Amino acid sequence: MVKISRKMKIPDKYLCSSKNDIKYLKRALGDKKLSGTSAIVKEYERELASFWNSEYAIAVSSGTAAIQCALFAVEVKEGDEVIVPPTAPSMTVFPILFINAKPVFCDTYSSNFGLNLEVLESCMSSRTKAVIEVPMWGYPTNVKELKEFLEAKGIPLILDLSQAHGTRLFSRYLSEYGDISCFSTHDNKILSTGEGGFILTNSKQLYDRMNGFRQYGFMDGKHFGLNYKISSLQAAIGLSRLQLVSKQIEIRTRNAKYILNRITNEKAREFPITENGTPDYYSLLLQLQFKDNTAFIKYLEERGIPSDVTKYNYTVLYDYPLFKQYKRPCKNAERLVKSFTTIPVHPGLRRSELDYIVKVINEYKEK
Ligand SMILES: *Cc1c(COP(=O)(O)O)cnc(C)c1O
Repeated sequence: MVKISRKMKIPDKYLCSSKNDIKYLKRALGDKKLSGTSAIVKEYERELASFWNSEYAIAVSSGTAAIQCALFAVEVKEGDEVIVPPTAPSMTVFPILFINAKPVFCDTYSSNFGLNLEVLESCMSSRTKAVIEVPMWGYPTNVKELKEFLEAKGIPLILDLSQAHGTRLFSRYLSEYGDISCFSTHDNKILSTGEGGFILTNSKQLYDRMNGFRQYGFMDGKHFGLNYKISSLQAAIGLSRLQLVSKQIEIRTRNAKYILNRITNEKAREFPITENGTPDYYSLLLQLQFKDNTAFIKYLEERGIPSDVTKYNYTVLYDYPLFKQYKRPCKNAERLVKSFTTIPVHPGLRRSELDYIVKVINEYKEK
């Protein structure tokens, strides 16, 4: 019998490790050369491209660096505009601010994190250089429709898939729909190298620009660049753990279904899933329909079930001082950020912990 307890602590995020990590690390160390131009980094990039069915993959030092590379590739410059959903995290938007470009917040749909095509047009101007879509917690958005809309206008689509490594639409990874897809491989993400990230694209031209940018423009005196390479040790960890990504998503999905099939509380249902899409369950999202959703989230937290919503004080970005000046009221997004909570479903959870989560949710009594 599971007992509800205020001492219980459900682990928030999963820290991956593989018995192969040491084997790959030994190989990297044996090669002596540890820098970002080592053979093992190239091997990692070949494997990334192959796993995600992409022409090109570029390993970089973080997800934030990946977005910076993408903005450089599509030539976003000072004063240019980049359209982003206000439901994105600050890390998606900082690279825009860093180059003195302007983030333009566009509303989402009422039931998912996708940029709303009915509003998008009115967010565009002659200075619009790119659009970034951010499927939060691995829940799919209709990137196919978005890509078709932008294609007709000649605006590149950048996807921030840092939480959506395994998310699919029409059975294909979301990355297959973007011009450039950016990923983080920070410790907490589905593919983890401690710190790190990577970029996928099918365009040779975009690849060349980003490949140069992450290694000081090849130091040829013609191309600009910084240094966003990863070391061979990170690539080794990436190669080792890439083999676990599919299994990890399978377990996350199984855990999510296990919980969903047992929830009897009608006011906590799964967040709507975009048609023809499949989440990777970076987290399970529960759409809440209580009179006071915050009280429910607090109740879960007091019983050891953490929520990203409170952990990151999740709200529309323009509520924060750094982004306030870019405020454009986004009614759907404002409602969306208050409508759900996250539930951990990672492979680190035991059956008894899943049962505990179910019990706590089902026993909630609204005041
Ligand atoms: C984690 C994350 C980032 C930042 O990635 P880093 O590797 O930590 O720089 C950016 N966007 C989203 C959506 C993320 O989840």
